[in-house]
Amino acid sequence: MPSRRALIGGVAASVAAAVLAAPQVRAQTLPGVIVVGGGFAGASCARALKRLDRDLAVTLIEPEAAYLACPFSNEVLAGLRGIEAQTFGYDQFGDIALIRKRAVVVDAERRRVRLEDGAEIGYTRLVLAPGIDLRFDALPGYDEAATATMPHAWKAGAQTLLLRDQLAAMPDGGIVVLAAPANPFRCPPGPYERASLIAHYLKTSKPRSKLIILDAKDAFSKQRLFEAAWQELYPGLIEWVPLSSGGRVTEVDPATRTLVTEFGDHKADVANVIPPQRAGAIAQSAGIADQTGWCPIDPVSFESRLQPAIHVIGDAAIGGAMPKSAFSANAQAKACAAAVAALVRERPPAQPKLINTCYSLVAPGYGISIAGVYQPRDGLLAEVEGAGGTSPLEAPRSVRELEAAYAQDWFRTITSEVFG
Ligand SMILES: Cc1cc2nc3c(=O)[nH]c(=O)nc-3n(C[C@H](O)[C@H](O)[C@H](O)COP(=O)(O)OP(=O)(O)OC[C@H]3O[C@@H](n4cnc5c(N)ncnc54)[C@H](O)[C@@H]3O)c2cc1C
Repeated sequence: MPSRRALIGGVAASVAAAVLAAPQVRAQTLPGVIVVGGGFAGASCARALKRLDRDLAVTLIEPEAAYLACPFSNEVLAGLRGIEAQTFGYDQFGDIALIRKRAVVVDAERRRVRLEDGAEIGYTRLVLAPGIDLRFDALPGYDEAATATMPHAWKAGAQTLLLRDQLAAMPDGGIVVLAAPANPFRCPPGPYERASLIAHYLKTSKPRSKLIILDAKDAFSKQRLFEAAWQELYPGLIEWVPLSSGGRVTEVDPATRTLVTEFGDHKADVANVIPPQRAGAIAQSAGIADQTGWCPIDPVSFESRLQPAIHVIGDAAIGGAMPKSAFSANAQAKACAAAVAALVRERPPAQPKLINTCYSLVAPGYGISIAGVYQPRDGLLAEVEGAGGTSPLEAPRSVRELEAAYAQDWFRTITSEVFG
């Protein structure tokens, strides 16, 4: 028997009709909520909405058949894990109408979403969770074609495998250059976890090689922990060049794998360019992104500051101190679902309190973390003073081993909650 997903996956217009003519009588009396984007934010939100109010007609719009998770994708680069361990499906989304199409236009005035095939679906409330797009207009020389030579690998999948293969093909003694962007961007500790795991690969497989991080910042997440670990595990292997020492990449030349800075050029054997980012393209069409490229939100309901009845969660949203992480995306999704479920019943949303923890692996069996608690204050999601913190700077290896195990447990838990 074809699955519910297979039945509804084909023709968007018929899906829309199916959603409008929802099977339960009670469901017809309640308005439809559309969620765009089936990543950590959107998939979590769609499922939380259904859990909170099974009478809500929830539609999830996501063009990809499988989701490729970024957390732990740095392990794939270092050959510590296969890409299949990063891949998740939507088979368990039976009570949610799943449309396998890209949303291309949001008409906020008419409250309708247009899909790539021209079909339109109306909504009472819309949750946008499109993640990030890379800003190919922000770094001269770095356009879409350049990603084939200088992968960003900041969206997991083909780019991750390309960078892994480039590292594998590099001769011993080669130079890897990683360009890290200015804030804000997806996963603040991600470039440094990546540098660590690439260094682990080089140390164990190509020990005469070197890794240079060209950074558009003078400070980064968990910096003291990373630097202490690099000193201990990879002495002389990683060179971090901060903004003030000429770390900002101003131009790239993919043909020669050269990264240009104000202080000179760096020719790489492998170049990993993580460019500036912004909210996924659909956010621009919906009129919810501001001049920064990100989407300002109300910290209680996650409703857009720029358009009514559109909520934004995950990496696309900006609204205070919460970092762009899968942990945050999942927490925001649940708070947003509670707010949307209340608002469609014309009840006021409750004040949320959100937690984020970001684990990073510096080597196999060596983990560090940073945690924070956030709540609405002065119109933003502000950090609760004294509630978070990082791993201790001085700690026996057993603590690092435990944190590496916690990181694995966290990934298993979140992916089974969201996709399982
Ligand atoms: C190397 C790396 C390591 C990381 N490690 C960690 C970690 O250890 N811990 C952690 O918490 N976070 C980590 N992150 C960050 C984490 O991956 C992101 O914060 C998280 O994926 C954000 O979730 P999201 O749902 O907002 O976006 P995404 O996960 O990007 O999901 C967006 C979804 O929307 C879909 N979409 C986009 N546009 C449309 C459209 N127009 N129509 C329909 N669908 C659309 C996309 O196909 C995608 O499925 C890491 C990131 C990287 C790059």
